[in-house]
Formats: sequence, structure tokens, C-alpha cells
Amino acid sequence: MDGGALTTAAAAEHVDVAIVGGGPIGLALALALDGSGLAVALLEAGTRFERGDPRAIALAQGSRLILERLGVWPTLAMHATPIETIHVSQRGTPGRTVLTAREAGVPALGYTVEYGQLHRALAQGLHAQAALVLTGARVGAVRPAAGCGLIEYDQAGQTRQLSARLIVLADGGGLPARGTVLAKDYGVSAIVCTVSTHLPHAHTAYERFTPQGPIALLPLSEAYALVWTTPAAEVERRLGLAEQDFLAELQTAFGERQGRFLAASPRAAFPLRLRQVGERPRPGLVRVGNAAQTLHPVAGQGFNLGLRDAWQLARLAAETPRSALGGADFLARYGALRRWDVAGGLVMTDVLAELFTGADPLAGAVRGAALTLLDTLPPLKRTFARKMMFGAAAW
Ligand SMILES: Cc1cc2nc3c(=O)[nH]c(=O)nc-3n(C[C@H](O)[C@H](O)[C@H](O)COP(=O)(O)OP(=O)(O)OC[C@H]3O[C@@H](n4cnc5c(N)ncnc54)[C@H](O)[C@@H]3O)c2cc1C
Repeated sequence: MDGGALTTAAAAEHVDVAIVGGGPIGLALALALDGSGLAVALLEAGTRFERGDPRAIALAQGSRLILERLGVWPTLAMHATPIETIHVSQRGTPGRTVLTAREAGVPALGYTVEYGQLHRALAQGLHAQAALVLTGARVGAVRPAAGCGLIEYDQAGQTRQLSARLIVLADGGGLPARGTVLAKDYGVSAIVCTVSTHLPHAHTAYERFTPQGPIALLPLSEAYALVWTTPAAEVERRLGLAEQDFLAELQTAFGERQGRFLAASPRAAFPLRLRQVGERPRPGLVRVGNAAQTLHPVAGQGFNLGLRDAWQLARLAAETPRSALGGADFLARYGALRRWDVAGGLVMTDVLAELFTGADPLAGAVRGAALTLLDTLPPLKRTFARKMMFGAAAW
């Protein structure tokens, strides 16, 4: 049992699939299950699907294709800024790689959207669906089981139950897990805000590695979304700097490639960690998105990976007989579908976060040489770009 004891009252309602958590991944899963013929419920602790979350999300080209199939892309496209070039470099040493959409043979390498807009577009898509949507429903405990599991949740001051053949945790990792195989605190936070620059962005994104960690600039509308990895000890000070002092520090860390930084919106910080839940398969239970794995945001993989979790789970569920949902064979097939994509995302982001950080000049020279090498080998560069855009399916 996860998250506390269940009472023994009879379940009030029954569904085939119950999704715990209406973040972007839970919502995407509910949309992907539409038309499957399965009865679906989504339980979200918040009372509304509105988020004042200041982060921006870089959507990979592969995610755009999934969002198109979910019917969400037309709404989102109005707010999405295409990324046509990604410039990867390291502060203080020569060597850089430039990935372009033209070389990769796609219209854009990705798209930047505000997190709130992404969440809203997914939630709007859900309005037209048949899923039972319960907001203000905080799940306190789940008891998955072969055949039929139970969920206990609090809503409007009352404790209620729901039974489901398959319980999907999309709660971002809120409910306790039985076993966490991998957990690492990077000891850094991402400071996020929007910054404007003297030169127009021309749809170019930057990933710049510095001794303190990566700085990402993602083109967003007419400005840039900034993700600045900052050591824990520096976070409060940097958040508290006057705007011009903050911009001056950013200028020193990032350099002049976009000209002067002119203005910054209010800042927020997210502590960064790596976490992968590796509990043994439990009949009737699956985890998706951050509930399954939380990644360092370098290279913008977390949402994209979680979206592929949701998409592949929905497709598998749709082709599985109802009675076999959540059974051993179902879980084995889902595990096999996701294993390499998830492992690739975890390893890539962890290597980039760890190996591309630090002030050692020798290591810096090796990293610079690696970037130059990548830049001079178009087939390798194309493979790398496809991995970023489509995950394991790119191999
Ligand atoms: C600074 C930063 C930048 C990022 N940039 C990118 C990027 O560029 N590209 C990318 O792909 N990814 C990026 N990510 C990662 C991305 O934001 C996450 O992977 C994604 O938001 C995870 O979504 P989720 O739905 O799994 O979890 P969440 O967004 O955490 O949603 C979980 C939901 O579950 C609900 N919930 C929790 N507990 C309960 C409960 N007990 N009962 C009911 N409901 C519950 C919560 O209210 C919430 O709505 C970034 C992350 C950070 C921190």
C-alpha cells in the first residue's frame, strides 16, 4: 500500500484506468486514452488546471507529433516558438557544436512554450473527452492489485474511493514509492525567468556549459526563456539581486553572443535532482512522467520523455483486453517498451550535468574537443539531434 492505510468501505465507482495527477503528463495520458473504449478517471489534487508556473518547456519535434495526434497542437502552435538552431558551447575554451533543423531534415528541432500554456492546452482538450475528471481530489492511498485495485481520495472534506483495473501514478513523485533505485541531489537549482537581448533570437537556442553548470536560453516569443543552473549556496543571493546586477552577472557567465542582456522578468528557482523509481513491477500499477523519473533539465528531456511514457502506455492499453490490463504480461510489455528510452534520457542528462560542469582546464579541453568533433561529423550530429527529438525511437 502507498501513502497510508485504506479504509474498507466499498468503492463508489469503478473504471478501467485511474490516473492520479493532472499535471501535463497525466492530462496527456487521459487524452491519449480517448477513443480506446476504456473507462478513464483522472484525479487531480488542485482545484483547477491553471498553473502560474514560470518555467518554459522545450518541446522536441517528436512531442509535437504526439501533441498533434492528441489534437492539442493547433491550440498550442499559436504560442509556440520554433527552435531552428541549437548552439552548444563551453565558456572559457574553444569548441562548439551547432545543430540545425535544415541539417536534421525537419522544419524545427523543437518548440518553446510556456509551461502554463502547455498545461492549459492539454486541459482544454480534456473538456471534450468522456473521462471522469475529479479536481480537488487528493489521493491519500492506493492499493493496486491484479484485476482490480483501490484508490482512496479526499474531495470537499469527504473521503471517497474509486476502484480501477489499472492505476497510473502521474503525480510527479508525490506519493511515496516502495523502492527508489536511483536518487541524486545535484546540489544546484535552476533559476528561471525571461530575458530580452539586444540581438533578435533568430530562432536560435543556446546551451552554454560553465564551471557552475549549464545556462540554457530558449527562444520564446520575442525574448528568451532562461534556465540558469546555480549552486545551492548562490541561489538566494542571485534571486535577490537587483535586475541590472542580475543581468550583469548573466552577461559575464554567458558572454556577448546575443549582445547585451536588456531586461529580466521576476525569477524563480527549482532545486534539481535525479530520481528514478525502480520498484519491482506491481500488478495493477504503472508510473509515468516525473512519478517514474525526474531528470536534470539540461537538454530539455523530462516532459518529452514523460509524454512518450503516456503515449506508449495508452497505445498498449488500447490493444490489451480489459481483463489483462495491469497484469504481469502487460507490465512486462510496458517495461520493455520504455526501458531504453528512459535509460537513454537519464544517462544523457546526468552525463551532461556532471561531466560538462567544473573548472578543471584539462577536462575543459577534452569537452571542447568533443564538441568540435561532434560538429565535424555530420552523421553523428544527425544521430544526436534525432535522439534529442525522438528519444530511443531515433536509433
Ligand atoms: C527548470 C525546469 C525546466 C524544465 N525544462 C524542460 C524542458 O525544456 N523540456 C522538457 O521536456 N522538460 C523540462 N522540464 C521537466 C518537466 O517540467 C517535467 O518533466 C514535467 O513537468 C513533469 O510533469 P508531470 O505531469 O509528470 O508532473 P507534475 O507537473 O509534477 O504534475 C503532477 C500533478 O499531480 C498532482 N498530484 C500530486 N500529488 C497528488 C495526489 N496525491 N493526488 C492527486 N493529485 C496529485 C499535482 O497537483 C500535479 O498537478 C523542466 C523542469 C524544470 C524543473
